[in-house]
Formats: sequence, structure tokens, C-alpha cells
Amino acid sequence: MRARDPEKRKHDFKEVALGLTEKQAIKEANRCIQCKKPMCITGCPVEINIPAFISAIRDEDITGGLAIIRKYNMLPAICGRVCPQENQCQGKCVLGKKKTPISIGALERFVADYEMKKGLSQKTKMSRSNGHRVAVIGAGPAGLTVAADLARHGYKITIFEALHEAGGVLTYGIPEFRLPQKIIDREVEYVKSLGVEIKLNWVIGRTQTVDELFGEGYKAVFVGVGAGSPRYMNIPGENLNNVYFASEYLTRVNLLKANQFPKYDTPVKRGKQVAVVGAGNVAMDAARTAARLGAEKVYIVYRRTRTEMPARLEEVEHAHEEGIELLFLSSPKEIIGDERGHVKAIRCDAMKLCEPDASGRKRPECSGDEFILEVDQVLMAIGQASNPILTKSVKGLKLWGAGYIEVDEEGRTNLPGIFAGGDIATGAATVISAMGAGKRAARAIDDYVMGRKKAKSKEPELAESKK
Ligand code: FAD
Ligand code: SF4
Repeated sequence: MRARDPEKRKHDFKEVALGLTEKQAIKEANRCIQCKKPMCITGCPVEINIPAFISAIRDEDITGGLAIIRKYNMLPAICGRVCPQENQCQGKCVLGKKKTPISIGALERFVADYEMKKGLSQKTKMSRSNGHRVAVIGAGPAGLTVAADLARHGYKITIFEALHEAGGVLTYGIPEFRLPQKIIDREVEYVKSLGVEIKLNWVIGRTQTVDELFGEGYKAVFVGVGAGSPRYMNIPGENLNNVYFASEYLTRVNLLKANQFPKYDTPVKRGKQVAVVGAGNVAMDAARTAARLGAEKVYIVYRRTRTEMPARLEEVEHAHEEGIELLFLSSPKEIIGDERGHVKAIRCDAMKLCEPDASGRKRPECSGDEFILEVDQVLMAIGQASNPILTKSVKGLKLWGAGYIEVDEEGRTNLPGIFAGGDIATGAATVISAMGAGKRAARAIDDYVMGRKKAKSKEPELAESKK
């Protein structure tokens, strides 16, 4: 996919990847051999009929292609940009065995952007109102999906969102240069156009409790509050000035516009030499943001090697092109401060890789050597944890691991009428897996409210595009 020049783009927050042209998209679609047993579908968590939408592009019926995608996925412009396709649909494409797999994500993005560029809007088939109200807690991908699916089936939905903007991590975590806010706004507007009400600045567990929602007549509650709490390494020096939890750092910039301080109220410290600890998408986003805030040198400090990096391939490549230095087999063991309590260096163990651990990845072990890296800022991106505000406020709610909500395959919790999905049920995962969980939960909520003993099997709703 075309991308902006790294030397120019690393100084601004404009989108980096430029997408495919129509000519490129049709050419790429023509490479698809239309497998009889398409493996790519099994790789997609929401099972988009990928060969069918690619075939529509091949026939130059772009809006037809979009209508096919929208049957399964209501956020194609977002998923086309941020899904880790190399581990999902594209990873299963048979062409990848010998040559290059079809760029499914790029094609998905192309059809979604085409709709936007041409000023088309979606016409969605809606069921008549059934008079039932359902509350959705959290306006991230999981909550938005549940809300849209149930609204289309005739439910009156209210989403309660703690922040002052909807979108969840899409809005506060993923930077503009990867996912422009106007795309998220458009998808949120679409959900609202289905009749969904979104109450912002509304923290369930504080502003109101789940019991109170049932008391107000909501028949069921879906919890999609994500996993946004910090996780630290618990090493000396993590309390020093200029150590940030990467998600907080990104929230300051993305949601609170700290990059435009003092025009906006929230400041952020701009490091000159920055170490980002971790190697997932959060780490890549934090590193590339630090570069855009003026850092002269940004290091990714990771205890394994490039092969084990969990970040999307494209993000790693883009970060590398922008001059971010990847330090592998390095594990921080102390952050060193100066006399004023500000970060001045980070001490790391040099690691070696041993036999694979439970995750299937090779286990890192100290090699016995250590080194010191002189930096003035450290961004911790070693994962997120569940936030207990809501979970602690619901009596008897069964949790697992580090406070995640225990659910069955369809998102049912141990409490009647309470459903959950997305990162709060799985731990930090992906946008599309949160949406998949939302879709399954919407079906289970419908069965629950309608009092069906046997689940009703439903085909995805039809969505059409029109001028
Ligand atoms: P969230 O997106 O976290 O949304 C939860 C919402 O609930 C939030 O808006 C929150 O404010 C709200 N909330 C929380 N508590 C309450 C409460 N008590 N009351 C009311 N509202 C509440 N995934 C990818 O697939 N590709 C990527 O490239 C990618 N990059 C990422 C980059 C970053 C920086 C981060 C942090 C994550 C990234 N992810 C990526 C992961 C992905 O964004 C998440 O897996 C996904 O957003 C989870 O969706 P969710 O709906 O479960 O939760
Ligand atoms: Fe691939 Fe994600 Fe699109 Fe599914 S939604 S086809 S995983 S890009």
C-alpha cells in the first residue's frame, strides 16, 4: 500500500498509509483465485465472505462489495486499517503459501473509503421497534457492535460511556496517523443513525449502578468496558518523573490534544531520548507519537526478537522507516533517576531465548550481561489490565484472572441479564475480536429478552449503500 514519505510524515499526525487506488484495487482483486473452500473466511473473526466481496471489486461493483462486507462488519474502514490481517484472513490465504497473499485488509479499506469519497451513505434494513430497552456500557468496538446489531433488531439502546467521546481505544488509544478521527466519528454517527442514544461522561459503577439500570426498565445489560488500566513491571524507578503508562501518554495526545498544548489544557512531557518498553501495537503507537512530539531518538526495548513481536507487521515497518530503533533481547530492570527525580537512564538485562513457553513463543532468559541506555523518558507498554470500577460494583459477578469477566461463548455472565464481551472478558485483544464478541452477545441478548430457549439462527442483516 502507498504510504507517505517517512521524512515528512514523522513530523505530523496526518495519516501515513494512503490506501489503494481503484486501479490497484481491481488489479489486486483479480489475483484472487476464488477458492472453492476459502480459508481466508476462517481466519476472519467475523467471517466476512471475503471471496464474494473481492469478486464484486473485480466486477467493478465497489458498492456491492461494501454491502457484502457490511453484512458481517459494521466498521470496515476501521478494520481495514487496524486489523492484524497477517495473523487473520491474510494469514490463511492459500496464495501466501507460495507467493504474496491477497491484501484483504487493503481491499476492505478501499471499498469503505470509496463509499466515503463518493458521498454514499448506508441504508440499513431495520426491524420494527419491539419496545424493549437494553443498556450497553462502554462505547468501544464491542459496545458499538452490540448496540448497532440490537438496534437493527428493534431494540431501544442506550450506551453509557465514561469518557467525553465515543469510540473507546479507537478514539483515545490509536493515533490519528494510523486511524483518523473523522473515520471513527463517521462510524459512531452511523450507530446513532440507527436510533442508539449515547450518554457520555457516564461512569457505570459511579454515576449509576447496573442494578439501577435494571430498576429503570432495561431488560439486559452488556458490559464492554475494555481493559484500560495500567500495568507496570514493578521495577525500581517506575515512579520517577517522565515515566508514563503508554496508554495514558496516548490518551493525553489523542483524546486531550496535548500535542497542541497550550491551545488545549492538557500538557504532556516531550522526551528527547525516549525508551518504549514493549513491542505490541501500543508500543509502536507510543514510539511513533514520541517521535512526532520531537524526540531525537526513540528506542523500542523488547525482551524477545522481531519474530515474536506482537505488533502488526505494517506498524513495525512504518516505525522502522521513521527511524525508531528496535532493541531486541533487552529487558529493563531499573529506571535510573537524577537528583530531581527525573529519568536519566534505564538499566537493562541482555537476554537470550530458550525453549517456548505456554504462549508458544520462545522464553527469554537473562544472559548475565547488562547495559545502560541514556534516556530522559520511559513509556511503559507491557499490556493493560481490567479496571475494577464497574466489576466491583456488581455483586456476585464472576471474574477470572486479573479481574476479567467470565463469560460463555455467547457472552453470558453468571448473572441473569448481564452480558459482557471485548477486552474486559478476554484481556487486551483486537478490535475485530471485540466486535465478534459483540455480535455473538447481541444474538444471546435477543434470545434472552425474547425468552427463547433455543437460539434463533440469524443471517447477518443486509446493508445497502445509496447516494
Ligand atoms: P475499549 O475499546 O477499551 O472500549 C471500552 C470503553 O468503555 C471505553 O470507551 C471506556 O471509556 C468505556 N468504559 C470503561 N469503563 C467504563 C464504565 N465504568 N462506565 C462507562 N464506560 C466505561 N487492536 C487491533 O485490532 N489493531 C490495532 O492496531 C490495535 N492498536 C491498539 C493500539 C492501542 C494504543 C491500544 C490501547 C489498543 C490497540 N488495539 C488494537 C486493541 C483494541 O483497540 C482493543 O482490543 C479494542 O478496542 C477492545 O474493544 P472494547 O470495546 O472491548 O474496549
Ligand atoms: Fe481481515 Fe479484519 Fe477484514 Fe476480517 S475484518 S477480513 S480479519 S481485515
